[in-house]
Amino acid sequence: MKKGKLIVLSGFSGSGKGTVVNGLLNKYDDYAISISATTRKPREGEVEGVHYYFKTPEEFQTMVDNDEFIEHATFVENSYGTPKAFVENKLNEGINVILEIEVQGALKVKEKMPETEMVFIIPPTAKILKDRLVGRGTESLDVVLGRLRRAIDESDFIKHYDYVIINDDINECIINVNDTIHGNIKEAENI
Ligand code: 5GP
Repeated sequence: MKKGKLIVLSGFSGSGKGTVVNGLLNKYDDYAISISATTRKPREGEVEGVHYYFKTPEEFQTMVDNDEFIEHATFVENSYGTPKAFVENKLNEGINVILEIEVQGALKVKEKMPETEMVFIIPPTAKILKDRLVGRGTESLDVVLGRLRRAIDESDFIKHYDYVIINDDINECIINVNDTIHGNIKEAENI
């Protein structure tokens, strides 16, 4: 059976990439999303096993020691990791898997699996990014500032991505991301 395709979707915190992923999953039936493990505390409304597997630092370290992650990284003082088993199983079943992960982890995935499609979502302007981060009201000002600083650092990594897509109108962005991924999948199938 033809293997599924691995797709990394990254973007600054507040770029709307989570909404893009939800849109892809709702609108199209050929994607699965990998659920990451994290030491971050759940935000209001976040559900164990749906948004993340929430772990203590000790539990997370045990997963690292047992080689359970494809990649893991630190992001603004918390650890995040992509569990291997789910991704490998889905790819073997021929299903395309999306990893919504930050840049360091994304590069590790690309190194291990060079055929991975790398997509980076950016906001139309820096002001819109700040307004989105402050506006969602889920984090303290300190955390918002940390995430904005992190966005500046992450800018350096965009050059490693295959596609950069602007999230101005969310519906257009979802369609653009899907078209981009499928354009490429079709290309690969035709070879
Ligand atoms: P948040 O705390 O906003 O949910 O996520 C913070 C950052 O961590 C986001 O850029 C998100 O894409 C990234 N992230 C989520 N899961 C993983 C993961 O498994 N690995 C890596 N490297 N980054 C992740």
